[in-house]
Amino acid sequence: MQDKFWQTHSLEEMTRVQWESLCDSCGRCCLHKIEDEDTEEIYFTDVACRYLNEETCQCPHYELRQSFVPDCLTIYPDWGKKFNWLPSTCAYRLLSEGKPLFDWHPLISGNANSVHLAGISIRGRTFRDDEVADDEIYKHVITWVD
Ligand code: SF4
Ligand code: SF4
Repeated sequence: MQDKFWQTHSLEEMTRVQWESLCDSCGRCCLHKIEDEDTEEIYFTDVACRYLNEETCQCPHYELRQSFVPDCLTIYPDWGKKFNWLPSTCAYRLLSEGKPLFDWHPLISGNANSVHLAGISIRGRTFRDDEVADDEIYKHVITWVD
């Protein structure tokens, strides 16, 4: 049986391999978001980064992603309030909030496809950001992420 390291290690204590394996490849963090400046509420849209592979929901330039998108985020264990920028299903956010992973998480299901089968990933549901005008993005706010 696989060691459930996410139950025994804090985010700070994880190895790089363990840390990376927390990502379920849902692709949700690659959706554009809009923040209400007054309330600081985050709204997700169905507009995804143009580089995202829409089938695998993974970044083809992961290691060099900031060369392609300078403001693409790198998640850190001490992110604190910034975890709000991640969807509520994201393992990094869940663990930072002391919550368990969902059953569909590949680390629990043992199946990398389970995130798609459970309807959590963004596969087949997005527009590319080079197809949507900046002043149209507010029309793409969605409720199926959070
Ligand atoms: S939202 Fe979280 S789990 Fe999903 S792809 Fe992004 S980092 Fe990975
Ligand atoms: S550069 Fe890669 S990781 Fe960053 S938003 Fe685009 S697809 Fe996602």
